[in-house]
Amino acid sequence: MAFFFTCGTHTFNSLLQGYENIQAQCQNCGNFSAKVYKRWEWFTLCFVPIIPFSLKPHHEVGCHICHFYQDIMHRPDVQQMMNNPQSSIPMQPQQPYGAPPQQYKAPQGPPQYV
Ligand SMILES: [Zn+2]
Repeated sequence: MAFFFTCGTHTFNSLLQGYENIQAQCQNCGNFSAKVYKRWEWFTLCFVPIIPFSLKPHHEVGCHICHFYQDIMHRPDVQQMMNNPQSSIPMQPQQPYGAPPQQYKAPQGPPQYV
């Protein structure tokens, strides 16, 4: 007769409520695909979360393309977006060296039909 206690960890991972619309640049792959996630690691016993590793969930900037996660402390630009929801429109991605800047300009003001 043997008992097996399966211990492990479980990470709760979900988009941070209220900031689902924020999209930031991933510092790993460069895509504008990083979002603000809430990650909370728990110690599990028999797959049941028992004890959290930390008192609060981590806030992380995660990329769903390359699965790169970094603590939001390292992303002041994302924190700024979170503090100013009005300015949550992502800025122009930085052009890599050698790439010509985009000359595409959207017309300002009301459209004029000639
Ligand atoms: Zn990425």
